Amino acid sequence: SSPLLDVQDLKKHFPIRGGFFGGVTGHVYAVDGVSFHINKGETLSLVGESGCGKSTVGKAVLQLFGITDGQVVLDGKRIDDMPANSLRPMRRRMQVVFQDPFSSLNPRMRVRDILAEPIRNFGLARNGAELTAKVAKLMDTVRLPRDAVNRWPHEFSGGQRQRIGIARALAAEPDLIICDEAVSALDVSVKAQIVNLLQDLQGELGLALLFISHDLAIVEHMTHRVAVMYLGKIVEVAPKRSLFAAPKHPYTEALLSAVPVPMPGKQRERILLKGDVPSPINPPTGCRFHTRCPYAFDRCRTEEPPLRPIPTALEAGHTAACHLHDLPADRNPLAVAKGQ
Ligand code: SF4
Ligand code: MG
Repeated sequence: SSPLLDVQDLKKHFPIRGGFFGGVTGHVYAVDGVSFHINKGETLSLVGESGCGKSTVGKAVLQLFGITDGQVVLDGKRIDDMPANSLRPMRRRMQVVFQDPFSSLNPRMRVRDILAEPIRNFGLARNGAELTAKVAKLMDTVRLPRDAVNRWPHEFSGGQRQRIGIARALAAEPDLIICDEAVSALDVSVKAQIVNLLQDLQGELGLALLFISHDLAIVEHMTHRVAVMYLGKIVEVAPKRSLFAAPKHPYTEALLSAVPVPMPGKQRERILLKGDVPSPINPPTGCRFHTRCPYAFDRCRTEEPPLRPIPTALEAGHTAACHLHDLPADRNPLAVAKGQ
């Protein structure tokens, strides 16, 4: 069956205005040709360091701004060029949970009204009794006491507020929830509770999740597949186990080397990348990672590697954008899994 969400060659370039006449003097190539899909009921995690463009991908999918190029297709319908009135029902099907559950909840609304608003806006209740019942059910769904609907956002802890944020997203009865660093601001123990809740809800409700995070340790617990972004591009996409056990892109390898492994003696050797992430205003030629890659060779500086299936991967559906995979196995440091 066709994917729930299909993003093709998405680009979002922000113009930079300046100079005496305020003209466009350049662009921030925030997202620069990104393709991925999410199946119904699947979690895809979009990972990478801050500034790599992952939040911009989330906002572009949500149609929070016009895109520069490419396509966003939801359930077979192209939504990026839809007129506002046809887009409205499509918007209901994609909801978002943000990082900061406090600033994203209106402090002057009781929880009851926060949850009732999307139900009303999208016409999902026929009368007041049904509205009240739906709000109560949402509280059950996110494991909060029903009588808490009378309280105000400031009366809740960070974790409870994030449960309300999730309930508000669920109120629209979506097929896809975009979680943008949804657990990053929470304490470690609360983080685990919210991640477990999201996982449970996904199973119960058959939701798809786009889980945007810089935290690979969290991602490992809850995702089906992972897409890794670097400087506006996806450099690797793979099923979770295939990516964590045997990454096929040097950037992923470096990111994973920083993730603590709970087993003693199994720690990966830490790979420290040289330099900083280059500016998305003037990205490097060829492979964008070549200025920091420990394995870069001549070809990397001039030729951009396409994202393509990697035959030596552990599992099918593992793609990476790296020239190393054209080299003979004995010269490709990522041909086999290391330290497994
Ligand atoms: Fe490194 Fe070259 Fe692969 Fe880019 S293409 S990740 S520079 S080896
Ligand atoms: Mg971000």
